[in-house]
Amino acid sequence: MHEQHGNDKGGADMARHGGRGWHGRVLAAAVGVTAVAAATSVWTAQAGPIDGQRPAAHPASAAHKAVAISIVHASDKGPRGVNITIDDGPDPTWTPQVLQVLKENGVKATFCMVGTQAEAHPDLVKAVVAAGHRLCDHTVSHDTTMDKKAESYQSKEILDAASMITKASGGVRPMYYRAPGGAFTPYSRQLAAKQGMRPLGWNVDSKDFERPGTETIVATVRSEVPNGPTILFHDAGGDRSQTVAALRECLPWLKQQGYSFGFPVR
Ligand SMILES: [Zn+2]
Repeated sequence: MHEQHGNDKGGADMARHGGRGWHGRVLAAAVGVTAVAAATSVWTAQAGPIDGQRPAAHPASAAHKAVAISIVHASDKGPRGVNITIDDGPDPTWTPQVLQVLKENGVKATFCMVGTQAEAHPDLVKAVVAAGHRLCDHTVSHDTTMDKKAESYQSKEILDAASMITKASGGVRPMYYRAPGGAFTPYSRQLAAKQGMRPLGWNVDSKDFERPGTETIVATVRSEVPNGPTILFHDAGGDRSQTVAALRECLPWLKQQGYSFGFPVR
């Protein structure tokens, strides 16, 4: 399924996300959210001093200014740029392996993190940032029906996740917001944009989440990359060995095709 441009839906991945086994654990862990939300003012206050140590991928002012509310797909590397996006982690088994493949290929990516996962694995969030990748808010509990829920719920899902991710990273804020399953609303896009998080869509769904086999994932990326620059993979939500293997093939292939790897425009 491809994202429909000009529409609030970023893509229809509800089906494949519906049966995720880890979701119960995520919800169970979500009871810790209130405490983190209370710490929001702390990370805001810390943002200044931490700016000086911010890695190059996170320009000091970038995450503080309001950004456009439209869903971005473009790469900051221009027309031959691609944006590798890695969703639903961090995960202690798969995120380190994804990081290793990215490192071997000299590729910087954008990690769309689930708040409770970030809270549970702050070491991995810090490793992602230290390697020069960017962070994206993928909500607290990955509710793909959040576009049907009250604005207060949407707000809590987005802002609490931003707090959890920022706390886990040691003060580096997410620069993007990706709605689970593409369930954006005009309200949620505006809310995220005001916080400096550009709504982030995708053009190419590698469909790695469905585990169709490494070669099928690779073939999907190869055939669909003309659709647009932002490519979706996952580093959590089940066995991601096919994703790791597919990245190992896709990244050199993309390079051979003349693509360069960038970040989504903010
Ligand atoms: Zn997701």
